[in-house]
Parts: sequence; C-alpha cells; structure tokens
Amino acid sequence: MSNGGRGPAVLIPGCELPKRARRCIMAPMFTLAALFRAIGAPLSIERIALDAPGPTEVLVKVAAVGLCRTDLHVMRGERRVAMTPMVLGHEVAGTVETVGTAVEGIAVGDHVVLTFIPGCGRCRWCAKGLHHLCAEGPRITHGPQLDGSFRRRDADGADVGAFCMIGGFAERTVVDQASVVVIDQEVPLDHAALVACGVPAGVGAARNRAKVKAGDSVLVVGCGGDGMNVVQGARLCGATTIIAADIVAAKLDWARGFGATHGVNAQGEALTRAVLELTGGIGVDHAFVCIDPPATLLPAFRATAKAGNVVVTAITPDTVKQIDIPPLELFVTQKAIMGAVYGFMSPRLQIPELLRLYRTGELKLAELITCTYALDEINRGYDDLQAGKNLRGVVVLDNSLV
Ligand SMILES: [Zn+2]
Ligand SMILES: [Zn+2]
Repeated sequence: MSNGGRGPAVLIPGCELPKRARRCIMAPMFTLAALFRAIGAPLSIERIALDAPGPTEVLVKVAAVGLCRTDLHVMRGERRVAMTPMVLGHEVAGTVETVGTAVEGIAVGDHVVLTFIPGCGRCRWCAKGLHHLCAEGPRITHGPQLDGSFRRRDADGADVGAFCMIGGFAERTVVDQASVVVIDQEVPLDHAALVACGVPAGVGAARNRAKVKAGDSVLVVGCGGDGMNVVQGARLCGATTIIAADIVAAKLDWARGFGATHGVNAQGEALTRAVLELTGGIGVDHAFVCIDPPATLLPAFRATAKAGNVVVTAITPDTVKQIDIPPLELFVTQKAIMGAVYGFMSPRLQIPELLRLYRTGELKLAELITCTYALDEINRGYDDLQAGKNLRGVVVLDNSLV
C-alpha cells in the first residue's frame, strides 16, 4: 500500500486524491520531522523542507506534542490516510513565529494549541457552533493544507502531507489559522498540548455528549488517554459511581487517582456481569466505549441501564464494517448509542475552558503525562504505548516552555 521508502508521494488506493496541489515559490526553511512512510514501519526521522506560511497560515515552533493512539492506528493501517509520506502528530502546543498577511487574532509570540479538526467558520456546522463537525473535517487524512496545497517536501522533492492539517511530529509546522487556538501564556506547553485531543475528547464525552449529572453512575471501558479523561470528566460532573474497566491492572490504579470509585479487570460477558453486580443488577446510567468498539460495545451496551447512554469515543479500524447489537434489545431497553468526536464541543470554546479548570486545580493535566521523549525517541514512545506503559507520552521539543 506504500512504496516503503524514499520516492515520490504515493497515493493509497481507495482514498481520495489530494486536490488543488500547488507549490509555494518562496525559499523554504528546513525542519526535522517524523514521517509515516509505510504501514507497519517505524516513523522515519528526516530533515524536510517547510515552506513559509501562506496568507491565512502561521508558522508554529512546536514545544510539545502528545503521542495519541490515533497516530498509531495510522501507522498500523487501521486508519487509512490518502498518501505517504506524511508527518503525523496532532496533539500540539507551541509558539507562533510568523503569521501570514491575512491572519487575524494571532500574533508572533502567542502560545497556541492546534485543533485536529479545523474550524472553517463558514460551513453549516461551524455556523451552528459545531466546529468539531466542520465540513472540512473529512479532509484531515488527505495530506494537503486547508487550501489544498502542500508546504512540505522530503529530500527527494516529494510532497509530504500533514496529518490533521497539522503534522505535529516536527520541530516546526505551518498550519491554517482555522486550526489555531491562542492560549494563556502561563500554562506549561506540555500540559497545554493535552487539551488538543485526549482531554477534550474524554472530558467532553462525559460533559457534553452524555451530559452526566450529579449522582449518576458511569462505566468507562478502556482507561487510556481518552478513557482516563472520561473518568475525570465524570468526576467533574458529580458522578458518584465511576467504574473503570481495563485489562491493564496499572491503569485501574491510575483511574482511582482521576476519580474512579471501582476498577474492573474483565472483558466480554464477565465485564457486563461485574458491572451489573456493582449496580444492583440495574446497570450504569452512562457507558463509554474508549477502546476497541468491535469487542467492547456489546458488553458495555448490556452493562447500561434501561434508557441509559452508550457513548463511543474510540476509533474502529475501517476494515470493520458493522457491530452487532440485537435490535429488539435496543428497542425494548430504549438505550441511546451515540458517537463523540472531540468531546462534542467546539474546541475553540472547549480548550480555553479546560485550561481554566486546570488553573483552578479541578482538571488534572500534569498527572496524565507518564513519560516524555525527544523527537528521535518517538518510536520508543509508541512501543511504550502499545506495551500499556503510558497514559500519555509526550514528545518535548522546547524544554524552556514546559
Ligand atoms: Zn488524538
Ligand atoms: Zn466549518
């Protein structure tokens, strides 16, 4: 599915072609970046050309970037992207070094968090305040910038894509202003990076999608980056029973630190039975599927109380076309099954709000970081994620700002 090495940009069959490609004619700078070149291969650390920002773009010096599982899904071929090579990385905080001539509200020196879905501000969804559903969202796996052109090239001159229109596994990146949120300069940027993806995804799923209320009961299946933040989101909402479920015992211990009241080390029917026992046979008001939906959705659905909510926050490989839920069971139990991307709230609103909760001590961010890495250690970081060692690994590129 890929050329597996140096050469011209390769289009992956079945994916849409990048459109409106054009080259910037200004002299490029160079940046070190971790490139996805082939499914199943480690990321390749290379020096690539990076063009100056276009009129609506900014140049960002990356200070910290989180190692999210979504990038791992791309590396494994479970989340397909339209081309290689591509710079992955989408959980970014950094500082602005240059702004394009038409950029508004962003200045050189600003501290920023980048959003993995751009908010064009003009589509139906952005107009409704639903930036996380922006019409440009489906293009985040294609490779080009928001304007359809490329800003990066490898040593052989091949166009290099930017995952999520960000390409954050790099010393520097160029992104459209539609992907930029300016933040308070007091927040350390390794902590700020976490509110670019995992924290809003989890906290928002509890607060904005399920609308967990004080006194509710919650089940969180899979206590990784998203799930741990569902746990703390449920705690912020006042849930009194928060059941963490994972097959890695250490994650159940960590989950207690974020607000879990119970830990269940089980899967499948055993998970359903354990949750029903803990809830007097009723089930939980809200169940969150934060890992491997094909294996966990049905047990979570059956552990949910009648008229309860089941929220899916995790990616399913696109080779999986369906998950069976018995329709009669759905009908008679009157449960709701729903998806939540980016915590079901505009990141432009949610990111500053989460950082305010962090500054008052109500939201834990530092505690989420289990290990930090240099850019050239990134593959070790992903090995640690796959081994279940990391809640969140973070690549730190500017130690003065974390
Ligand atoms: Zn992510
Ligand atoms: Zn939009």
